Amino acid sequence: MVEDSESTLALEETTAMETKDRRLQDRNTCIHKKNGSKQLKKWKRKIYNKDDGGTGKYRLVSYDELPEYMKENEFLRKYYRSEWPLSHAFLSLFSWHNETINVWTHLLGFLLFFGLTLIHLRNMPQLFGFLRHLFPGSFRWKIAANVSSNPGNLLWITSPNNKLDQLTDTVTGILSGQPPPYSVAPLWPFLVFLAGSMLCLLTSSLCHLLCCHSRRLNLFLSRLDYAGIAVMIAASFFPPISYAFLCTAQWRLLYLSIISALGVLAVLSLLAPEATGGPYRAFRALLFTAMGLTGLVPAVHISVVNWSEARRRETISCEAAMAVLYLVGTGFYVSRVPERWRPGKFDLVGHSHQMFHVFVVAGAIAHYEAALLFLEWREEVGCGFSR
Ligand SMILES: [Zn+2]
Repeated sequence: MVEDSESTLALEETTAMETKDRRLQDRNTCIHKKNGSKQLKKWKRKIYNKDDGGTGKYRLVSYDELPEYMKENEFLRKYYRSEWPLSHAFLSLFSWHNETINVWTHLLGFLLFFGLTLIHLRNMPQLFGFLRHLFPGSFRWKIAANVSSNPGNLLWITSPNNKLDQLTDTVTGILSGQPPPYSVAPLWPFLVFLAGSMLCLLTSSLCHLLCCHSRRLNLFLSRLDYAGIAVMIAASFFPPISYAFLCTAQWRLLYLSIISALGVLAVLSLLAPEATGGPYRAFRALLFTAMGLTGLVPAVHISVVNWSEARRRETISCEAAMAVLYLVGTGFYVSRVPERWRPGKFDLVGHSHQMFHVFVVAGAIAHYEAALLFLEWREEVGCGFSR
């Protein structure tokens, strides 16, 4: 009996101690949770840079406050957006920070090229014929009397009296190595250049606008931005090569294949995660410059075979201007001048990346002029003039 009551007492004592332990544990967990949530809030506040005033705005931070992946240019000291939500990052299009001019320089460039594309498509009566073919009776198309509604003509500029059979003769003539007898130049190489430029300028704008959101998006958009530049460079070769070698299919195919292969290689290597970091700046610049210089061979070839062409000097001037503009832009990109000389003085306006953007747009405009000259020249002379 005594033994029984003693064991019951011991059991009760153990149970009481266990309950106490559990309560203590619960209390500790609760304290930990409280501390945890406080720390989480503190961390979030630190990460999101929430304004202490509780206004819901996100303040701009200094270079030293940036997460490692955003530290690219130590000479730009302030006005960074860091880890902002997408909506805030998007709306920062209309506010001042150290990426505002980077975003707008390429966004305006994109709008310019978009407008130019629309103008070219508007002046291409075949497009209206094609759309009429797609949506019969849906629209009131203002179509010139001589416009063909055949979709096969979509990407060709032809003289008004050209017919489909002439076009077919031309295509088969080119494929068989024989120059076509008609004045006909395809518009698609010109459109390839315009599309490549628009893609590059738009991805660049998006990258500068939204890269501040998160590490993941930063990496993704940076890769896309570099790939966009490679596409633009490769696309730039299409009009001069296509028009200059329109009547010599073997050269045209050779040069276009080389530049397309280089473009694909560049895009693939630039999409690799390792290629995005700051230390690869020189590698990227080298890759883009090498792609640009690859154009020297067909450029010299074009000049030699068209030596007697009066407009040769005009196109060479435009292309030389483009090369100089791109090279100067790349120089700014690599050297990080002028902010290197006076860190913190060019954070908002005048830093190297903004200069790089301006020179890229100017170079693209110079190349647009050259491409237009090539197109107009080939349209005028057709084949037989230059072999
Ligand atoms: Zn940029």
